[in-house]
Amino acid sequence: MTTQKILLTGGAGFIASHTFVALITAGYTPVIFDNLCNSNPKVLDRLERITGIAPLFIRGDIRDAAALDAAFGAHAFAAVLHFAGLKAVGESVEKPLEYYDNNVRGTLELLAAMRRANVKTLVFSSSATVYGDPATTPVHEAFPLSATNPYGRSKLMIEEILGDLFKAESDWNIARLRYFNPAGAHESGLIGEDPQGIPNNLMPYIAQVAVGRRAQLQVFGGDYPTPDGTGVRDFIHVMDLAEGHVAALKYFDGATGLVTVNLGTGKGVSVLQMIAAFEEACGKKIAYQIGARRPGDIAECWADPALAQKLFGWSASRTLSDMTRDGWRWQSMNPTGFLD
Ligand code: NAD
Ligand code: UDP
Repeated sequence: MTTQKILLTGGAGFIASHTFVALITAGYTPVIFDNLCNSNPKVLDRLERITGIAPLFIRGDIRDAAALDAAFGAHAFAAVLHFAGLKAVGESVEKPLEYYDNNVRGTLELLAAMRRANVKTLVFSSSATVYGDPATTPVHEAFPLSATNPYGRSKLMIEEILGDLFKAESDWNIARLRYFNPAGAHESGLIGEDPQGIPNNLMPYIAQVAVGRRAQLQVFGGDYPTPDGTGVRDFIHVMDLAEGHVAALKYFDGATGLVTVNLGTGKGVSVLQMIAAFEEACGKKIAYQIGARRPGDIAECWADPALAQKLFGWSASRTLSDMTRDGWRWQSMNPTGFLD
């Protein structure tokens, strides 16, 4: 059993908080570093209730070199899981400078601090958005990359920065993990996705309709060239995704280098299928209306997950009904998220 300390930038957020639980289960000691710009400190109590361990928490910004140096000085980290970032596509179009500053400059500051502290193992939260509009599915890691908005471009830029860093300094170990569509929540219902304002993503929107916070879901497009005309995505249970990070860390126990790996299930689910699965989970009808396509959306996207299995020995094990059941448990136990 290892007791390695792992730094989680953005550790109070949706995916990282679930990864915190998976790391504790695997015997690691995660330390959360977060400026709380898109998360609630109540998550720390919830994590303690789930794991029985009060999280080590540092409130700080990844663009603050002194705060990072203090964190690396206080703890001997074996690796960094870098989740911190702004992630709203629409907002990134409105505020490109803020997005590049937070995501790109923040990552540069983090890398510089890691180098000063001689911590050179990094797992980075990238996204399937770097594939742009893929020509075919399933999407393989070697597919061409592109971006259509500043959020996606910030992920692409960071991927390239990490590639250049590894070329110049081959003693780094770097995993660029391309997440597909995280959904669901921890099975306890104590932590989950808690978007500020109107949810951008499908599952939290459906969940808020189910709990009565929103009147109806707008389905963005019913005329895509997909089996039922609605968009198709690779929804992955957030605990599967969390465990994928543990698998990536363990990979570096026996291997070195730079790897770029999809984390998805390999299965496509349409918007209408997701609605039906959620209805099943919550026992209610979800009011929805099929409307216009959302600008910038693609018809379908799902992962070729073979490389994650080959390198990390990891594959997603939870089903769509696990995602909707756990997503509904979180939403129904916490109708207004961490405000409850
Ligand atoms: P989230 O907003 O819930 O978590 C991000 C966390 O980072 C928040 O707690 C926020 O307070 C923190 N943060 C942001 N900027 C910071 C800064 N400068 N310094 C310190 N902390 C900062 O988002 P999430 O959904 O958990 O996403 C985590 C990562 O995964 C992000 O990098 C995101 O781009 C990436 N990702 C998310 C998705 C998704 O659908 N949720 C898909 C692909 C990739
Ligand atoms: N979607 C929708 N209504 C919403 C939010 C999303 O119909 O209110 C659709 C969207 O068009 C896409 C799918 O659900 O086909 C997943 O969208 P999401 O924003 O969750 O993920 P992404 O588009 O980033 O893959």
